[in-house]
Amino acid sequence: MSNLLSKPQIGASACLARQAVRFDGGYISNAFLNNECMAFFEVHTMCPEVEMGLGIPRPAIQLRRFDNETRLVFSKNPEKELTRSMREFAVQKVRSLPQLDGFIFKKDSPSCGVFKVPVVNNKTGMRQRDGIGVFARTFKEIYPLVPTEDEGRLNDDNLRENFLERVYAHYRWRQLAKSRNPLPSFRDFHRNYKLVLMAKDNNACRQLGRLVAGVSRQNYHEVSEQYFSLFMQAMSKIPSQGHHVNVMMHILGYLKNQLDKKDKAELLEWFETYRSKRVNRVAPLMLLQHHFKSHKNDYIDEQYYFSPFPGELMLPV
Ligand code: SF4
Repeated sequence: MSNLLSKPQIGASACLARQAVRFDGGYISNAFLNNECMAFFEVHTMCPEVEMGLGIPRPAIQLRRFDNETRLVFSKNPEKELTRSMREFAVQKVRSLPQLDGFIFKKDSPSCGVFKVPVVNNKTGMRQRDGIGVFARTFKEIYPLVPTEDEGRLNDDNLRENFLERVYAHYRWRQLAKSRNPLPSFRDFHRNYKLVLMAKDNNACRQLGRLVAGVSRQNYHEVSEQYFSLFMQAMSKIPSQGHHVNVMMHILGYLKNQLDKKDKAELLEWFETYRSKRVNRVAPLMLLQHHFKSHKNDYIDEQYYFSPFPGELMLPV
């Protein structure tokens, strides 16, 4: 059991994991899910359409808009509706899942799609990309703080990095919530995420800091719930180059008495090269880390800013 929980837990649409569950009996091999995710996460795959009994192969289904109501229907027989049965299945299935730290959904699916799923207008036959799959919507309603993404969006380096950051943050939070005396771990959690939060949303970082400052054994439950909700909202933001440079300047402040003029000038030059998008973030961060090897600083050492998730998953952004 402990071994199982030693990795973040994520859910995934089964067809992305080479399981032949699609309506036509096919599958899609998503490289990120089948390589990196399988190595670093405990992956729980599921196919809502098969598990609710639609079989393989099965007639294609789609989201269809009737006036203001969106229904899940058979594409060739739109009068035959599946919305309610999928919804009932989804509520039961999602509630039976182990605690997950993220979910990778199949894009565009009327069951699993989580962003901009096509919805067919029943009057005009036109498609509008503004829907969400019935299973994915249920998952998000029951677990609004669990990071979700679709496989298509994960091809974008920034979105993938942001998803991984949130998965690991969620996982670390779950670990601390399990401890007998979570109060010290709660304070450490905030301290260790401080630079990440500063980059993503400095106002939220200050607000979260105030919550941590006011926490006690008596109000821990209420404050920590409030904290985590605000924390995950802040984590979903993708910082600009300028925001990262502000944080790097802040980090440089911890070296002000240790570095000579030449080293400082070199770092500043790299920060500006990064700000103007001529190099990725790894270059200035590596140089900073290099200096902290000779000038140890416990606070900086413990920051997730340098490694929000394992280095092997790190992408060059
Ligand atoms: S998208 Fe979802 S429902 Fe459709 S085949 Fe894949 S896992 Fe099954």
